[in-house]
Amino acid sequence: MKVTLLIKRSIFYLIFLTVFQPSFAQTKTKNNFEEWSGKPEIVNPGGGTSAPSDAISLFSKDDLTLWESLRENGTPARWKIGGDYFTVEPGTGDIVTKKSFGDCQLHIEWKIPENEVQSALNFGNSGIYLMGLYEVQIYSSYNDEHKIYYNGQAGSIYKQYAPLVNACFPAGTWQSYDIVFTAPRFKSDLSLDSPAFITVFQNGVLIQNHVAIKAPTTHNDFTEYKAHPGKLPLLLQEHKSKVSYRNIWIREL
Ligand code: MG
Repeated sequence: MKVTLLIKRSIFYLIFLTVFQPSFAQTKTKNNFEEWSGKPEIVNPGGGTSAPSDAISLFSKDDLTLWESLRENGTPARWKIGGDYFTVEPGTGDIVTKKSFGDCQLHIEWKIPENEVQSALNFGNSGIYLMGLYEVQIYSSYNDEHKIYYNGQAGSIYKQYAPLVNACFPAGTWQSYDIVFTAPRFKSDLSLDSPAFITVFQNGVLIQNHVAIKAPTTHNDFTEYKAHPGKLPLLLQEHKSKVSYRNIWIREL
């Protein structure tokens, strides 16, 4: 009796496995997390002074036509072009891109002038304002040579976040920022849905790690988010210092 029962059970398991194993295998294939739709676009990454193939170059040699003066609304940018770079012309005001941007990856190279004579708290001061509102500070901060409050030194999100580290090169040396920016979102009643977020690498070193921007940048007053379009021009700040810029490219995300 026992032997017969054993044989019967063996046959049952054999049939069970024969019938159900293929469906187990099929289930496994269906849920192996492979994605075969949504193929990533092919991008030539460039490198050195050439931008990725899907980037918009915001400055080509001898040409500032993609920029205009903020102060004189729609008139040409009056900063000085010096070949493959251009320099802040003190007294002419900030410049903005003619095109607007929202979520983006931005690469920008900048240089603090050497031996600049300036007043206290204004050495090599310029800045990159994402959407014309949110400033990543440019300042002469190599080796803490010009003391300023930490959330005002190079790489700070001005008056909000000091950089994680001071990764500056000396004045007179080209430096880079690589920025990943997510624009703020607003609800239909114009209240804030989610703040802007920003990540910054300076000279390849992480100095801001996905921080939530608290409000548009101001010098002294407390501000709050106010609903604005999803895309706005990029702004470079004129703050009397002759800071130079080159190799600027942006990828819209
Ligand atoms: Mg500034």
